[in-house]
Amino acid sequence: MPTLSCRIADLRGSAIRDLLSLTARPEILSLAGGLPALELVPHERISTVLAEVGADPRAWQYGETAGAGLLREVLAARETARLGRAVGVDEIVVTHGSQQALSLLAQVLVDPGDPVIVESPVYPGAAGAFAAAGATLVGVPLDGDGMQTEILEEYLAEGLRPRVLHTVSTFHNPGGAVLAAPRRRRLAELAERYDFWIVEDDPYGDLWFDSPPPDPVAAHSTRVLRLSSASKTLAPALRVGWLHGDRAVCAGVERLKQSADLCGSTLTQLVCARLLADGRWFDAHLGRVRRDYAARADALVAALRARFGDALWLEPVRGGMFAWGRFGDGTDTDRLLRTAVEHGVAFVPGSAFAVGEEDAAQLRSSLRLSFATCLPDTLVEAADRLALAHAQS
Ligand code: PMP
Repeated sequence: MPTLSCRIADLRGSAIRDLLSLTARPEILSLAGGLPALELVPHERISTVLAEVGADPRAWQYGETAGAGLLREVLAARETARLGRAVGVDEIVVTHGSQQALSLLAQVLVDPGDPVIVESPVYPGAAGAFAAAGATLVGVPLDGDGMQTEILEEYLAEGLRPRVLHTVSTFHNPGGAVLAAPRRRRLAELAERYDFWIVEDDPYGDLWFDSPPPDPVAAHSTRVLRLSSASKTLAPALRVGWLHGDRAVCAGVERLKQSADLCGSTLTQLVCARLLADGRWFDAHLGRVRRDYAARADALVAALRARFGDALWLEPVRGGMFAWGRFGDGTDTDRLLRTAVEHGVAFVPGSAFAVGEEDAAQLRSSLRLSFATCLPDTLVEAADRLALAHAQS
């Protein structure tokens, strides 16, 4: 039998994806997957726009590798408003979800062996993309204010010279944290001083509950490559994400994307362009999503507090799709998951977000609970089942 490449032999599969197959059983209430609420996908509106856009035969043709011009224009205008500086269409590349942007960026920016800074806990999709490019991952721990830039500075002072730093700056997946404004500025300064790229991975920034997050890191430096996505605000099935940043990097990503998929779907990009261009509709839609997710988060957090009290510390949930917690009694969440599945509830244990083995030990009592997929009553039932499982594990 011919062998596979070294690259694939060394690549770990996503523990979360494996878990999702287990939790797809109908009797299991899954708080494991990062799946947006289907009730909040504006499918009627999307279907109407799809029919309108699809009436033009050109919507069914191959398109430009960097993305449909109409969509890039809308995205450039939105980035201009968000960052407070003019953003050109040639600073935008539309990708097949922001996950493709992560994968292409990793190949464009990293040579095998290059150190790449990630957060601990890390978004596994980023860890996988950089690892596939041969990066050596270095984790910097999070606290409630995001990546601890003081620890990063220690590493830099000790001589670490990363090529890239990846951060989920707002409503972290999995940690829920929001990178505080002074740390955003500090990261931008460090990137300039030590000459590395920042990949600001921001698919959740629009999903705030009470108040909008601070300005993106990208507002403070042009060394930032900012990623976002229509997956969490419109629908994952559109597979539309985008990268905004340095023109030379965008050109590199475009070249690599040509060999990856020639171009994204013209059809879904044109649908997104129409939906995002209608600012009044999109803002009203976002308002609905925010209110609904805030109610789901409240229901889950209140139910967990009532059942676990101080035994389960929870990061305050200010937006996004995830609650992040840690048991204070030494509970091993890998083991708890097995009992939990027997009780009909699933979550993702902290070890799935570890950067290395030392990290896995640190995250042994942590867990991520998604509140996005289930309705409030179901979340309360899930908390009941989790409490039963915890009592018996
Ligand atoms: N970045 C982060 C932090 C995510 O949580 C996700 C989705 N789980 C992605 C990127 C990729 O999402 P998509 O490809 O659907 O845009």
